[in-house]
Amino acid sequence: MSNDNVKEIEDLIKIIAKLPGLGPKSAKRIVLRLINKREELIKPLTNTLAQVYKNVVRCTNCGNLKSINSKCICVSKKYDQICVVENIADMWVIESSGIYKGQYHILGGTLPSFENKNSGNGLLIDSLVNRVKKNSVKEVILATSASIEGETTSHYISDSLKNTKVKITRLAKGVPVGGEIEFLDDGTLFSAFKNRNPITNE
Ligand SMILES: [Zn+2]
Repeated sequence: MSNDNVKEIEDLIKIIAKLPGLGPKSAKRIVLRLINKREELIKPLTNTLAQVYKNVVRCTNCGNLKSINSKCICVSKKYDQICVVENIADMWVIESSGIYKGQYHILGGTLPSFENKNSGNGLLIDSLVNRVKKNSVKEVILATSASIEGETTSHYISDSLKNTKVKITRLAKGVPVGGEIEFLDDGTLFSAFKNRNPITNE
């Protein structure tokens, strides 16, 4: 289709082509479908996107996404286990595997391996320590990736939790080196969880 003269369509195709898994071709198909279903798709999509933009924020306590209109599950529920992951995609993979049913803590990244780590680099590590203390959490499961950055982060966290009595475990080494949780298959994830190792703070 030739839309070179319709700027609105060109703009929309450019935005949609930025979504994961989509290129210009599929973006064009999506835009065409949207335009053909104005009332059915464009209208509700516009409203829903505006709502998400306005209301969905990252919880500063646990890092999960929450609606500004309701309390985050990290404060509204009791729990004694926290699984620490790097990002939301990792949490969704673990969640959908059904291996773990407890609470999560989403760091928002990893620590770089060579920089000054004292600041925690804006990752939600102080709030993790607070959550552990406040809820008398019994176990923190470190599910950061098996990369140097993931290991650095995991060491930093277990160090930060030194003064709490919490048991700290790390996913078993079954996770391939450099392996990102997001891309693990259920089988690998299951055994990494099941065989998780305690980390001892000297
Ligand atoms: Zn929260």
